[in-house]
Amino acid sequence: MVYETLFKKILFPSIEKLKGRNTLDYLEEYSVNELKSAEELQLIQLQKLKKILQHCQENVSYYQKQWKSIGFDWREVRSLADYSQLPVLTKTDIRDNYNELIAKNFKGKSFSKTTGGSTGQPLKFEFSNESNERRIAVMMRGYGWAGLTPGCKSLHLWGVEIGAVSKKRQFKMDLYHAFYGRKMLNSFNMTINNMVEYVDSINKYRPKIIVAYVAPLVMLAEFIQTNNLSVWVPESIITGSEGLLEFQRKKIEEAFGCKVFNTYGSREFMLIASECEQHKGLHINIDHLVVEICQDGIPCDTEEVGDVVISDLHNYAMPFIRYEIGDLASMSSKQVCQCGKHFPLLKNIEGRKLDVIRTPDGRTVPGIFFPHLMKDIPNIVRFQVVQEKLDKLIINYIVDNPINEEELLQIKGLVAERMGQDMDIEFRKVEDIPLTQTGKHRVTISKLSN
Ligand SMILES: [Zn+2]
Repeated sequence: MVYETLFKKILFPSIEKLKGRNTLDYLEEYSVNELKSAEELQLIQLQKLKKILQHCQENVSYYQKQWKSIGFDWREVRSLADYSQLPVLTKTDIRDNYNELIAKNFKGKSFSKTTGGSTGQPLKFEFSNESNERRIAVMMRGYGWAGLTPGCKSLHLWGVEIGAVSKKRQFKMDLYHAFYGRKMLNSFNMTINNMVEYVDSINKYRPKIIVAYVAPLVMLAEFIQTNNLSVWVPESIITGSEGLLEFQRKKIEEAFGCKVFNTYGSREFMLIASECEQHKGLHINIDHLVVEICQDGIPCDTEEVGDVVISDLHNYAMPFIRYEIGDLASMSSKQVCQCGKHFPLLKNIEGRKLDVIRTPDGRTVPGIFFPHLMKDIPNIVRFQVVQEKLDKLIINYIVDNPINEEELLQIKGLVAERMGQDMDIEFRKVEDIPLTQTGKHRVTISKLSN
């Protein structure tokens, strides 16, 4: 508690100032919005939207060309309905028009990031400094609804770096996380044989909040219940990275004795929506993003399931306008939330169910492991992992350019290491990977029955 206060009042503001960052100002701005009415929030969103559309029309050649050909002009946008006339932006569009999507006044001034593609399509993109700081601020606000305050003790059961990390780098990362009050546990290293050590770590660290990937946390919850272990009860648990099913929420809440706060985020945007203490859906950060649920690019009715389409209102370096992220979700028809916030609610996120892969030596590997791994090979357009039998794994992949053999070998080595000696692993270069009946791509498929 002492550290938390010190951190909030002195350490964090000092380091932000030292590094010339504005995260705290943005956090202040976003926190004020929690008190605003629905109409006020919609107005903020529309104003921000017009501003970035203007920027696109003036500085981003991809949109200049496209909008000219369809006769679109930002000055004619009066409502979200006008904006919804624009075509959606796909991952393929971004790959094929990478340089044209970078704003001319941000060339050489942006940072790049690669998504693992929880939808099976890895993607590289650019973002600006301001956008990054704002994303962190929005995340702090959303996590704050679950009780995660800056500097408080939080334990993260998360996918940490894959592959060997040098001791020096590990030490630096540990220091960095310790500064923020975070303890990191690598969910990718969790096996049936060492789960008890994970429980021990939680009991020793006594975190106020646990932040975790869904799949490994569910496994840990099962392990705790099956073995009747006692575990430290945090104030709350924040889950992310995959859709959270009701039975999973129940299992986690029973094992840990506290409430679960689900979040929806991605590497492209960081936090998109998150739950408040009412747990009646996920509040969408509409003062930072525009989120639509569409069928064939046209917004659908509330409660109807469709593709999630997002515009980032602050990434001026490479603006994503109506980006189809590859998830399925539905809007809630609930207009008011008892918590008093007027951010609209997302009902369900359905697009990210990743099957768990099991190994002959009794390990379970969360599906999210693979997107993390594959993001390091730039020429893989899409991939899918299929567990045919307990000891047979097939990794299908599509490439757009010849792939660096050395990189592929490295990835093969990392997969083999994770799966153990008895797993037969086959990498198959394929022309196509069929979609599911609902038109979605599944990253991992397990043909084993539970
Ligand atoms: Zn609420």
